Amino acid sequence: MAISHIITELTNYNMKQTILEICYLIGSVTFIMGLKMMGNAKTARKGNMVGAVGMTIAIFGTIFLHDGDVSGMIYGLIFGAIALGTIIGWMTAKKVQMTKMPELVSMFNGMGGACAALISLIEFNHYYHAEYPKVLMGAALTGEYHPPYGFLLAIFAGLVIGSISFSGSVIAYLKLNGTMNKPVRLPAYNIINLVVLIATLGFMAFLVYTGGVMLVGGQLVSYFIYVLLALAIVYGVLFTIPIGGADMPVVISLLNSFTGLAAAFGGFLYDNKVMLTGGILVGSAGTLLTVIMCKAMNRSLGSVIFGAFGAGATAAAGPDVTGSIKDMGVSDLAVLMNYSKKVVIVPGYGLAVAQAQHVIHELELLLEERGVEVKYAIHPVAGRMPGHMNVLLAESNVSYDKLVEMDDINPEFEQTDVVLIVGANDVVNPAAKSDPSSPIYGMPILEVDRAKNVIVNKRSMNAGYAGIDNLLFYDPKCSMFFGDAKKALTELVAELKTME
Ligand code: NDP
Repeated sequence: MAISHIITELTNYNMKQTILEICYLIGSVTFIMGLKMMGNAKTARKGNMVGAVGMTIAIFGTIFLHDGDVSGMIYGLIFGAIALGTIIGWMTAKKVQMTKMPELVSMFNGMGGACAALISLIEFNHYYHAEYPKVLMGAALTGEYHPPYGFLLAIFAGLVIGSISFSGSVIAYLKLNGTMNKPVRLPAYNIINLVVLIATLGFMAFLVYTGGVMLVGGQLVSYFIYVLLALAIVYGVLFTIPIGGADMPVVISLLNSFTGLAAAFGGFLYDNKVMLTGGILVGSAGTLLTVIMCKAMNRSLGSVIFGAFGAGATAAAGPDVTGSIKDMGVSDLAVLMNYSKKVVIVPGYGLAVAQAQHVIHELELLLEERGVEVKYAIHPVAGRMPGHMNVLLAESNVSYDKLVEMDDINPEFEQTDVVLIVGANDVVNPAAKSDPSSPIYGMPILEVDRAKNVIVNKRSMNAGYAGIDNLLFYDPKCSMFFGDAKKALTELVAELKTME
């Protein structure tokens, strides 16, 4: 077949459509494959790349193969925006510290929500002002014509969910970076929130019913969509401000699922399969993660949203602490570990802050050389994001099979000679099991107090994320090994090396 013929065929509308559909199919399949690969630490990085390649194919397919003429100016705008977004995204992600990752995730999630809301706004105005003349608005008002209900529902639902996700994520970001470090509780905030939610949903249903237009002072107007936008933004703020402390990860993951849902509505709007698939995948992955995190904290989603859990994040709630603590020096600790049979390391947020992942791996190898069995106990919400400890330890090449999940390691503590806690606090706080008044009550913990010896490395007696004291530190079995994790562990490794 002559090349010119192929080119003619390729420019043929049907052919373009077919290729575009294939691009979308590749995009959808790679999203699913990528997500599956991200379920395992070994393949997660590759999974991310696979998803990104699929997304790139879908984006460029849409730009070059979509139906309709696009002027050079529009191409300029599209590629200008892509370049700007890529540069900002790349630089931010490169620069961000591991411990600031949840903030970045909430900000990126907010941007996704804002995009979904903007799509709805643009498509609504496009429908009434560009595609259809005013007369159609009049017909919509008199009931002679009604835009398809499904179309309007997709527009308004995308707008509401995307806006809630946007404003909620911005508040989550401010909370995580410490700008808004106290939960804000208006009097009867649950009732206020419920009223605003009902008002938002009611107004949305009303707009679907009227076709989105209304008669104001004899003038036909379509700007009530902005009232809906404002209501949804206000609800997003009200929904997030009372939630404090330890519940923020659950909220972020919930908002993430909202963004996915909003994007899926965009997919309906444009009849775009890849947007629909991507949105549904993000929505369902976010929902699953929310459920898993609630389970890990032994909380119901309802109590996270309405229960004001985490109130003590900065309020220093907690047990009455009496008793004394024991301090252990580096040489005593080195002797204890050297003569142990089994050591379990509990990494926490402080390990990430100190960037002590490499030296902890060195300690593990050194102990193993001396015949000590070493494992890491991984709590599902240790650190500041799901999988934080796994990612951190993978960075220093700790073998994946040494990382043991909470439910599997808890029964092993009884046979453990030494538990070495490095920069963890809330995830080993026995108040979660024994003190119903504690803000973390109900959260499953690593039951380290079952081990023969517990050593805690941290810099001071300061509280962790939930802002509460930890009675474990006063347990007769427990000794404190004070200092910055990297410095203290480096000294421990050096001390161990001097011993036979
Ligand atoms: P915590 O926040 O409870 O405690 C961390 C401890 O690390 C602090 O008490 C601090 O004590 C110590 N620390 C800080 N810097 C250093 C350092 N350089 N060297 C040694 N120690 C240091 O951490 P956990 O991992 O135990 O618990 C995570 C908490 O974060 C939970 O409450 C969880 O709900 C919450 N959370 C979890 C998220 C997730 O998805 N994983 C996301 C957001 C919050 P000191 O200052 O005395 O050194």
